[in-house]
Amino acid sequence: MARDPRHDILFEPIRIGPVTAPNRFYQVPHCTGMGYARPEMLAAMRGVKAEGGWGVVSTEYCSVHPSSEDDPMPAATLWDEEDVRSLALMAEKVHLQGALAAVELWHGGHSTANLLSREEPVGVRSMPAWQDPAQCRALDKSDIRDLRRWHVDAALRAQRAGFDIIYVYATHGYLLSQFLSSDNDRSDEYGGSLENRARIVRELIAETKEAVGDRCAVAVRYSADVGGPDGQPDTDEPRELFSLLAELPDLWDINITDYTYEMGASRFVKEGSLESYVNWVKPLTSKPVVSVGRFTTPDTMVRQIRQGVMDLIGAARPSIADPFLPKKIDEGRIEDIRECIGCNICSAAHRRAVPLWCTQNPTMGNEWRSGWHPEQIRDKGSDRTVLVIGAGPAGLEAARALGQRGYAVTLAEARTELGGRVARESALPGLSVWARVRDWRAGQLAKLSNVEIFLDSELDEEQILEFGADRVALATGADWRKTGIGRWHVTPIEGWESANLLTPDDVMGGAIPRGPVLLFDDDHYYLGSVVAEKLRRDDLDVTLVTPAGRVSEWDYTTEEQRRAQATLLGLGVRIETGTVVQSLAGDKVTLACIYTGRRRDVEAASVVMVTSREPRDALYHALSERIEIARIGDCSAPGIIASAVHSGHRYARAMDSKSEDDFLRERPTVPA
Ligand code: ADP
Ligand code: SF4
Repeated sequence: MARDPRHDILFEPIRIGPVTAPNRFYQVPHCTGMGYARPEMLAAMRGVKAEGGWGVVSTEYCSVHPSSEDDPMPAATLWDEEDVRSLALMAEKVHLQGALAAVELWHGGHSTANLLSREEPVGVRSMPAWQDPAQCRALDKSDIRDLRRWHVDAALRAQRAGFDIIYVYATHGYLLSQFLSSDNDRSDEYGGSLENRARIVRELIAETKEAVGDRCAVAVRYSADVGGPDGQPDTDEPRELFSLLAELPDLWDINITDYTYEMGASRFVKEGSLESYVNWVKPLTSKPVVSVGRFTTPDTMVRQIRQGVMDLIGAARPSIADPFLPKKIDEGRIEDIRECIGCNICSAAHRRAVPLWCTQNPTMGNEWRSGWHPEQIRDKGSDRTVLVIGAGPAGLEAARALGQRGYAVTLAEARTELGGRVARESALPGLSVWARVRDWRAGQLAKLSNVEIFLDSELDEEQILEFGADRVALATGADWRKTGIGRWHVTPIEGWESANLLTPDDVMGGAIPRGPVLLFDDDHYYLGSVVAEKLRRDDLDVTLVTPAGRVSEWDYTTEEQRRAQATLLGLGVRIETGTVVQSLAGDKVTLACIYTGRRRDVEAASVVMVTSREPRDALYHALSERIEIARIGDCSAPGIIASAVHSGHRYARAMDSKSEDDFLRERPTVPA
């Protein structure tokens, strides 16, 4: 198919100082959980993005010196020649595809505690680290001279590694933004007035250019926070500071300080939401501007360019969910784009210090370790027929990928719609975009004549045997437990049978509890707070009880936690932390403090249990000795949607192959 001429503008080359990006698709720096620790994995992953058409592919934050490191989260590093060799791998892979490679040089200032290097953190003022009990040393004049030298040395290493664009990273609360900040009250020439606060950034731009500017472009990443819709302080400072620097770099990479908005989960932040923050930038500079907005629709991208908001379409998550997004637009295959759902499981991987993975793209992070490609999969290894039972994320992905391989596949679903849990969960407040997990797969399946889909077809043991497929994949999911068994209670809560209990499945199925409702969240991910929000919006009196210290505690990994709690507080949901449901007796709920054990009774007409799930695997146990049947997704091990998609994909890849059980590891080794 041909490209829609309306999208031609996206494929224009853009000059960035001494280099030229082949198009306007710019993968901005994003974390990977790979960094210095997994160079092969990283290089392969970035290379696939370049192959998919991203004109610029950037690293994650790349430390210039051991006085700034973020272990256990492995940032990239450019401390020495070994780092040069590691990152050269990535630059080579990116160049092979004709794209430019960018490196985001980083110093975190007081944000890090340097647990690995044990170097004293340094910062503008002596301030506490973001997470650990550490406080930095205030940089003196000689430290600032050192900082400038470290930055230039790292820039020279970056050039040796082959990078084309080198960042001066002045946002997200890290060292350079600590200098720019109005809090910077240093009494020397690096604090106080705007000119003084901007001095270090001005110097680093000039010195980086001096060192590498004949061959490499110098980009500045900068926060445009000015009185946006999300309650940012309405100040002209970012504009005034920007004006002092506007013509100095070759490229401006514009975002905002608050990660929870800039890369906000779709539950709270919609596509293109940064526009009102960043649209003042371009009129103030002649240099190209890149910004982000979880863009997946080419029409939105084109509009942002035509309206002068940005010159290059920046993306992190859309490039993770679909590394081939630019190619698909180029080839006029818009419906093939695997759109990011904004769940931020990618960012959770970084926060948990493990390699990047993605709900929509199960090949993410598996490019090197398993040889998985997001678009290619080997042809079928036999003429076996496959019956996939259950069309949730696991079953849909298994059927799709098996179909792509050429197998004859039958997909049977008990309900009258595809999607399983995503169909139901996407009807909950804020989660509508999650339906893309189903929609993309349904669209791809519709193109595969070798996959037959039967809705409204709940299969039992006899029907499965009668069907006679060579292989059966059981993707029947899991049910939320009523008993309260979970992390806190390993046996059923006393009196659970006597209470008016509901599970998230009941609520999603349309059951309307009687109020007041008590929701017990021992799951700690999004669903507890989402269901509480839904019930409160249904005008019920809701109390959320959790043994955790805060609502949806694990959501800190996905940048949702603060907003989830704020939403519930704003709606008037009562929140009881450090508390568990101890026992139930009709309308009486006995709560217990997890610290003191102190008990008290409250009244609740209904209790919603969000604790753990029971795999729906009876068919497996009935049939596993008689036919070739495997459990995939939640039916095997209930988990996040990304796990179910990965499980379905892996099942499909493994058909007629043993190798999918193996994966390569990068690890420190002892010489033989
Ligand atoms: P996963 O996340 O593992 O994909 P889901 O719970 O999202 O699991 O999806 C499981 C799907 O399986 C649901 O849509 C459910 O209706 C379907 N299902 C469950 N049991 C059967 C069955 N016996 N026959 C056909 N479909 C089933
Ligand atoms: Fe998008 Fe979720 Fe994939 Fe991240 S994990 S890229 S947010 S779909």
